[in-house]
Amino acid sequence: MKNRVTLLGVPIDAITASEALTMLMGFLQRTGQHHVMTPNNEMLVEAAKNHAFAEVLKKSALNLPDSRGLQIMARWTGHVIPERVTGVDTVSALCASLDESHPVFLLGAAPGVAEQAAKTLRSRNPHFTVAGTYAGSPRREEAHDLIARINASQAHLLLVAFGAPAQDLWIAEHLHRMPTVRVAMGVGGTFDFLAGVKKRAPVFLRKIGLEWAWRFAQEPSRWRRMWRAVVVFPWLVVRRNPA
Ligand code: UDP
Repeated sequence: MKNRVTLLGVPIDAITASEALTMLMGFLQRTGQHHVMTPNNEMLVEAAKNHAFAEVLKKSALNLPDSRGLQIMARWTGHVIPERVTGVDTVSALCASLDESHPVFLLGAAPGVAEQAAKTLRSRNPHFTVAGTYAGSPRREEAHDLIARINASQAHLLLVAFGAPAQDLWIAEHLHRMPTVRVAMGVGGTFDFLAGVKKRAPVFLRKIGLEWAWRFAQEPSRWRRMWRAVVVFPWLVVRRNPA
């Protein structure tokens, strides 16, 4: 039985990184299709006003707690999320464990970034098999072409970097049209980090829960997102769960 914590009506899997890896390998080894999401503070604020996105979060197979804020606010509601399980760390660990039997398609990010991310993953694991890479976009008129590419690639794992909520709405709408895909995961900025286009915060900042401040310093244009993550999210949780 999965241990889930509910925050703003969204179920979050209260599991460790190693449990997440075991579950993902299990999904890949079985038939059936699984949508994996990596919710963070901003995604939960978005879900509070975007009904379609909230429904996708409620139906996904696994919601990994991507931000320290989810851990902190879960504690406020009297629940425990044992650790932060980020998209980029999960993708790195999963791709390090895969062999040729599970080809991976990397979809999204700016042109050339997914290819570079795939090269990084391949340099770390010679058995990592790239089914395909493509920048693409979540635009409706492109979906047919993207789906044809993914189907031709016979990918088992599909990583989608269109940013949230677009990437997860795209997966929820189209996964059933890509029958070889067993796991589809919305991965946000993961390809940018793997490709070295963006630099992750130093480990000590991640440990004390300040990765958001690092990203803000690197991309001040994200201030609206930061405001939602750092102010609006805790306020919404406290309002729903007064002390
Ligand atoms: N992106 C894309 N197409 C779009 C919008 C975004 O490929 O229409 C990519 C963008 O280039 C980036 C990723 O989506 O690689 C998500 O980036 P963001 O920094 O927003 O993700 P986060 O990690 O903050 O969720």
